[in-house]
Amino acid sequence: MQHEPVCGNSAEPARLANAPRCQARTKRGASCRSKAVRGKRVCRMHGGTNKGAPRGECNGAYRHGGETKEAVALRAAARRLLRALADEATA
Ligand SMILES: [Zn+2]
Repeated sequence: MQHEPVCGNSAEPARLANAPRCQARTKRGASCRSKAVRGKRVCRMHGGTNKGAPRGECNGAYRHGGETKEAVALRAAARRLLRALADEATA
């Protein structure tokens, strides 16, 4: 294993010291300042490694599926189509 140079007074290698910081707030209201999980905006303690609630029918709050990403996207596509048709009819 290769050792990275430690700069300044910090005991952290520069690669870790320059890593993006957690955006979460602590219970006291201060910034967390831990290293964020790669690709996420929060650290492992603030849910950076948590995938979140299950999607679709696996979620206990699921009722009818009318607000799933797919259903919302379908309605948006239908609206775009209708608007395009209406614009064509008036033009
Ligand atoms: Zn955090």
